[in-house]
Amino acid sequence: MPEGPEIKRVADKLAKTVLDQPLETVWFAHPDAQRHAATLSNSRVISVKTRGKALLTAFDCGLTVYSHNQLYGRWYFVARDRHPKTRRSLRWQLETEDRAALLFSASEIRVLESDRLQEHPFLARAGIDVLSDDPTPQQLFKHFRQPRFARRSLAALMLDQQFVAGTGNYLRSEILFCAGLPPDCRLGELSDAQVRKLAKQTLIITQRSYETGGITNDPKIAARMKQQGSKRAALRHFVFARAELPCHQCGTLVRRIETAGRRLYYCPVCQPSQAVDRA
Ligand SMILES: [Zn+2]
Repeated sequence: MPEGPEIKRVADKLAKTVLDQPLETVWFAHPDAQRHAATLSNSRVISVKTRGKALLTAFDCGLTVYSHNQLYGRWYFVARDRHPKTRRSLRWQLETEDRAALLFSASEIRVLESDRLQEHPFLARAGIDVLSDDPTPQQLFKHFRQPRFARRSLAALMLDQQFVAGTGNYLRSEILFCAGLPPDCRLGELSDAQVRKLAKQTLIITQRSYETGGITNDPKIAARMKQQGSKRAALRHFVFARAELPCHQCGTLVRRIETAGRRLYYCPVCQPSQAVDRA
C-alpha cells in the first residue's frame, strides 16, 4: 500500500495535470458524487493536498473532492486521447483540453464542502501530516508527548494515522531504525531527547522518501551501492525488507518480526533495548 510520500507524489502529478486549467470533463462513477459533476466542471482546481493517505482536490466553487485509494485504487495521468487499456473500472475522470487524470478501481470518493472538511470522520481523526502540514520538529515533539500516546508501543504508534498521518509499514521500520529505538518499547519510556530524535527522524525520512521516490537509505550509502552495481531494491532501505542481510551501519544481521500482522524489520545493535531506561 502506498504511504504518505507516494500519495504526495501522486498529488503533485494531479496538480501538474489539472491545477488552474479549464476543465472539459469531470465525471464520477458514483451517483452521489456525480450530482456535483456539472458544478465542478465549470470551476477550476485551486489546490491538491494530501491528508495522510487521502487526496484533497479543492475547486474554486467551494467544493473539495476527498479520495482515498484504499488498497487497489490507481491513478493514470495521460494524454486525453490515450486512455489506458485496463480491466480496472474507472471511478473518477478529470479532463483538460489535452490531458486526462483517471482514477481506477476501488476507492472512497466523496464531494465535500471545503469549509466543512473536518466533519469527515477520517479527516477529523487524522494526525499531523508531515508532508502537507510541514510541522517543525518542536511541534511534532509536542504532539508525540500527548499522554494518550504514552502507554502504546512504538511499533503500534508508527502505523496509527492519528499519531502521524501517512506513515505506513516501510516508513515505520526505517524511522525507528534512524531514531535508534527498539520497536517494542512504549513511547512513555523514552527520554525527551529520544522523543525529539524520533520526531526529527520522522520528518527527515518521510521528506527524503518523498524527494527520492521511496529511497529512505542514507544517500551516501545508496550512491556507493549503486556505483558497485546494486539494484534499487537492494539499496532502497536501511532495514525494511532486508531480513538476515547485514545492517548498512554495523554489519549485524537485520531481524524481521511481525506486529499486528505486519512485518517489521530492525537491527538489534543499532536499536538496542538498553537504549530505553525501563527502571
Ligand atoms: Zn546496525
